[in-house]
Amino acid sequence: MNNIAIYLRKSVLEKGNLGHTEDTINSQRNIIKSFIFNDQELKKANIEEFIDEGYSGSTTSRPGLDKLLLKIKQGKVNCIIVKDMSRFMRNYIEMGDYLENIFPFMGIRFIAINDGYDSSNEIQNGTELDIQFKNLLNDYYSRDISEKMTTALLVAKKQGKYTSGTPPYGYLKDTEDNYKLVIDERVADNVRYIFQLLLEGHTLNETAKILNSEGVITARARRKEIKGYDAYANRWESNVEDTIWSHSMVRRIANNEVYTGTFVFNKSTKSKLDGGKVTYHPKEEWIRVYDNHEALISKETFDEVEGLLKSRHRKSFGVKKKKYQNSPLATFVRCNKCGYKIRFGTSSNGKELVSINLYCYHCRMLEQEEKFPHYKELEKEVFEILKDKFHTDKTEKKKLLDEQKELYDKNDQLLKKKRVEFENYKFGKISREDFMEIKNQIQESEEENKERIQTIDEELKQAGSIDSLTKETVEKYIDRIYISGKGIERIEYQ
Ligand SMILES: [Zn+2]
Repeated sequence: MNNIAIYLRKSVLEKGNLGHTEDTINSQRNIIKSFIFNDQELKKANIEEFIDEGYSGSTTSRPGLDKLLLKIKQGKVNCIIVKDMSRFMRNYIEMGDYLENIFPFMGIRFIAINDGYDSSNEIQNGTELDIQFKNLLNDYYSRDISEKMTTALLVAKKQGKYTSGTPPYGYLKDTEDNYKLVIDERVADNVRYIFQLLLEGHTLNETAKILNSEGVITARARRKEIKGYDAYANRWESNVEDTIWSHSMVRRIANNEVYTGTFVFNKSTKSKLDGGKVTYHPKEEWIRVYDNHEALISKETFDEVEGLLKSRHRKSFGVKKKKYQNSPLATFVRCNKCGYKIRFGTSSNGKELVSINLYCYHCRMLEQEEKFPHYKELEKEVFEILKDKFHTDKTEKKKLLDEQKELYDKNDQLLKKKRVEFENYKFGKISREDFMEIKNQIQESEEENKERIQTIDEELKQAGSIDSLTKETVEKYIDRIYISGKGIERIEYQ
């Protein structure tokens, strides 16, 4: 660090206002110099001043700045120090370009003292700029709403990348562009699954329990996996959240608009005074950039879940509301490879079911995922099997009942025969031995017939008319269906 440029600017307004001396060239210089001379490394460098007096910050054609930019091009400057970013440039798009592209490319360190921004910190953790720049935007937002709104939206739209430091569960930072969100395919379906469970009427707590029972990786554990270390070890999250889902974690996901592809900022401002006190802004002041990144959840689904959670809150008990039904097989299918339940991930357009995606979460985590047959194929196959096995139509039923009637008739005949033989024995027509033998034979036949009558009763009880595949039908006959990539492997019946 041997050539430091300090840039000082005073606007037209400030120039005319003689009584207002807060931010004169001299006071800016004073602040910057005290900063430099309090730094062991910076104080050894050469200092050159670039001054613009009476030029607005929103125009970049300023002689002092032009001179500075020329020096930068010539490679004669390694470090720029300003009192605050707005002194240097008020055009946020250009400012952003300098901070993110031009300066890093040229290896120039940029320090904005009042913004607490130092590009050398930025290189270390990759998120500093983001936060600081957002704060800058937020500052201007409170000062000049209309100007700020337009500019901030422009910046955000143009760049679409002012995401907060850690990407939310289900997203990753683009390896090419650290400020862009891309889908984390490894866990994205878990986010969809959470919304699905809530939509199916499960409470936050029930949803958390289901996730825990299925061993679903938590947001924090996933971050650890990605980063290779626990960056949040001493933060607000408790250690338990490492492995266990809680209702508040589920809520955090359900409430995060990021999943609809919308980037929201200006949710809060961190004060530079008061030890960084955070002020939360009302929802009306949030700034949204729609279609900022790929959505995981449709806007309709998001709104519906929000509504469900609110209504549940009011009534304090679960409102079981189902907009569309999942496959009747949804809760019965297991993975033949690992034995875990197979997820039937539904996707909708907010009005109706669009598709159901079958996958085994456990095999996926082990990177042994198989592509399962389409759910409709499975439904068809199960339907055929159940029909073959259990369906009894009217003629079949009649046949069974007729057979039963015949058996009752036969037993009546046998009873009559028994009486006749007893008479014969009584009147000495047959011997006792003969009578006993005949009697035993008759009784044996009687027993046989009774058994068959009972069997038919059972068959008739079991017999259903299976005309369509409903959850009730599946439940009645089937306990578990094991599938693989090839289709149904085996069925465990009730
Ligand atoms: Zn599996």
